[in-house]
Order: sequence, then structure tokens, then C-alpha cells
Amino acid sequence: MKKVAFYTLGCKLNFSETSTISRQFEEKGFLKVDFQENPDIFIINTCSVTENADKKCKKIVKEAKKISPNSYVTIIGCYAQLKPKEISEIDGVDAVLGAAEKFRLIELLDDFAKAQETKVLASEIQEATIYNNAYSINDRTRTFLKVQDGCNYGCAFCTIPLARGKSRSNTIESVVKSAEEIAASGVKEIVLTGVNIGDFGIVEGKRNERFADLVFALDEVEGINRFRISSIEPNLLTNEIISFAAKSKRFVPHFHVPLQSGSNTILRKMGRRYLRELYEDRVSKIKTLMPHACIGVDIIVGFPGETDELFLETYNFINELDISYLHVFTYSERANTRAIEMGGVVPKKKRNERSKMLRILSDKKRRKFYEENLGKTFSVLFEEDVEDGKIHGFTENYIRVAAKYDPILVNEVRRVTLDQINDKGNVEVIEPEFVYEKH
Ligand code: SF4
Repeated sequence: MKKVAFYTLGCKLNFSETSTISRQFEEKGFLKVDFQENPDIFIINTCSVTENADKKCKKIVKEAKKISPNSYVTIIGCYAQLKPKEISEIDGVDAVLGAAEKFRLIELLDDFAKAQETKVLASEIQEATIYNNAYSINDRTRTFLKVQDGCNYGCAFCTIPLARGKSRSNTIESVVKSAEEIAASGVKEIVLTGVNIGDFGIVEGKRNERFADLVFALDEVEGINRFRISSIEPNLLTNEIISFAAKSKRFVPHFHVPLQSGSNTILRKMGRRYLRELYEDRVSKIKTLMPHACIGVDIIVGFPGETDELFLETYNFINELDISYLHVFTYSERANTRAIEMGGVVPKKKRNERSKMLRILSDKKRRKFYEENLGKTFSVLFEEDVEDGKIHGFTENYIRVAAKYDPILVNEVRRVTLDQINDKGNVEVIEPEFVYEKH
């Protein structure tokens, strides 16, 4: 029995895909092992957004070869699609597979027999037109379920459409089936993932279905306590979806909505499909219907042309917005993007200063959001996340909660009253109630 190990870099989508590919291996009789357990085959799923993707990839390959010198090393993922040749030249790599090939790797790699030459099977990204279903099952608590792949938007800074291709989706029927399978395995929370999931519904180039209808259908799936939407573009987060979430049985009051800049000048340069007024309107709609909702925001600092003045516009805009936390990204130049050709390059030092300012703002926002919710009662799904005698989990509105560790709490949903914020910045509960949350 050949042993195979996996390593994943990047986003939830990559995790869901690695997990699905690992199940393909298990179905074919391979033994899935940890990276350290002397595997015969390594599959490394890469990301192109990660800083220094090339260095990281090289480092992991080196480590793999140290653990298992005769192993077969395969590289897949976004970075493999963007730079197959560069990766094939890394010492120790046996095969590189692109976006159109990665789900067929067992069939394509011919028993994983080592050859003199590195195998490169990466077609042009236009060939990646087939949708491959994927979901992760790592522990029993939470699953990432892919519903959509690729993107047709073409933002000036983004390489994802080059690495993942055009927007394409699963069907509602098939997503519901996957959700039912996941429910049957005992998982309580599903996080819907994709590249641009609000654009859900395109099958073979034609728009057949709508994301809102997917949400309505999933809300009926028995056995799942919670659905979380991983991230959705503000222009696609419609009033219909927000209003439905406000009265939904299972969709939680947590939205992650990329803003990228609070300056309309920069939003236009980025080629985003909304202005800050629309964003403000989305936040206010969510907060009017769900005052306790958590809103996360992606921001890029240091995009070309972002003067001190325009950055301040972003800072002040976010400062005024009723949001709960930020994910701050520092702009970095990527080959084959429109942004790399733009003038007004922001010095690296300035990019880092701006990033630091927004990270401090994010901490303040999160703290304020947590404080506003103290004394209120929510349900927490406890995870196998134990540190210093405390078990952790998240409320439906994404507050990280700590309680005294009790093994019985793992993968349990409990009602809790949020008591205090501890020195680690988590909300502490004294006594989780012993009641199941039933749907
Ligand atoms: S919406 Fe823009 S940033 Fe998001 S994946 Fe598509 S092109 Fe990239």
C-alpha cells in the first residue's frame, strides 16, 4: 500500500480541493499519512496569492525530500498553473499539474513511477472549463464546501482568474446533495466557498441558477446547524440575500465582504464593480436587520496611486463604518496584472506603515464588537481547539469564545452568555449551558 501525504497553502478553496483529492487516493487504496510519516508520494497544493510562493514551494519540496528521499513529489494549485516551468526546475519535483489536470492526477501520473524528466501537465487556463466538486472533511466540526470556481471580473491587482479560469459552478441540486452527505457524517457547520461565490450559477458558460436560490435551498438541509458564506462581493450581496439571512434557520449573521479601498478613485483604478456608497449601504442594511451581525472586511493597502490623502479617505471611511474586523493585505506587484503597469507606485515602507495602521484599527473594531455583545446569549460550536485548559469555538456571529475545557464539548453547540473579554482577546464564558441547539 503506497503512502501519500498532502500539504496545502492558501485559501479555504485549496483546503476543500486537497481534501477531495485525498479522498480519491483513499478510494484507490492509498494510505493517507502525515507529512512526517515517510510517504511514497507528496502532493503539494500551492497558492499564488501567498507572499514568496516560489520560496515557500521550494522549502516544502526540500523538506519532503529530507523526510523521504525517494518519494514522488507532485505540485498542483494556483502557483502550479501560473508558473509550471519554473516549478518543474525545482530540484526534487517529479510532476506539475495545472488547474484542468489536478483532479485527474492519479490517472495521469502513471503509478507515480519516477522518470528522468519532470512531468509538466498544465494546459492553458482556458482549458479549465469543467467544474470539479470539492469539500473538506478535516475534523467533524466544520467543512468547507466549494460551490463555485474561477472569476470573470478581472480586478487590476488579481491573478486568480489566470490561475483558476472563468467563473463556473456546481448546480444547486449537487450542492444540496453534498451538504446532505456532509450532514450525515456528523459535521455541524458548512462554510460555502468559491472564488466569487455571489456569481454562482454559471454552468458551461451559461447562467442557469442564482446564488440566492442556492441559499434558499440549503436552508432546508436537515442536520446542518449552520451555513456560513465565506466571502461575497458587495455588489452581489443583494437585499434579497441579506433579508433572507436575517430570518434564516441556518444561515448565520456573519458576512465577509471585500472592500479593498475606501476611496472611489482607487476603487475605479482597481476595476472593482462598486463605489464606497454601495458598500456603506450594504453594511447599513445588514446592521438594520441584524444589529448583532459580524461584518469582516478585506482591504488592500499601497495600491498604485494610493496617495497619503487617498489612504486617509480609506482609513476614515472604515473608522466610521459599523464593521467588526479587517483582513489587511499589503499590495504586492504580480506579473501579468494591469496594476503592475500603473504609475504612482507606493514605497514598500509606506505600504507597511499603512498596513500597520489598519491592523490596529481592526483590533479596535473587533474589541468594540466583542464589548457590544457582552452579556448577550448566543450559541457556540466548540471545536477541537484547546489551549491552556480552555476549549474554543465560535458564536454564530463569529465571536471567538473560550470556556473551561471539557472533552464532551467538542463538536457540540451550546447556549452561552458572553461574560468577559480575557487577556488573549477572546470572550470568556463561565458556564456553557447544557442544551442542544435544535433545528
Ligand atoms: S472579484 Fe476581483 S479580486 Fe476577486 S477573484 Fe475576481 S478578479 Fe480577483
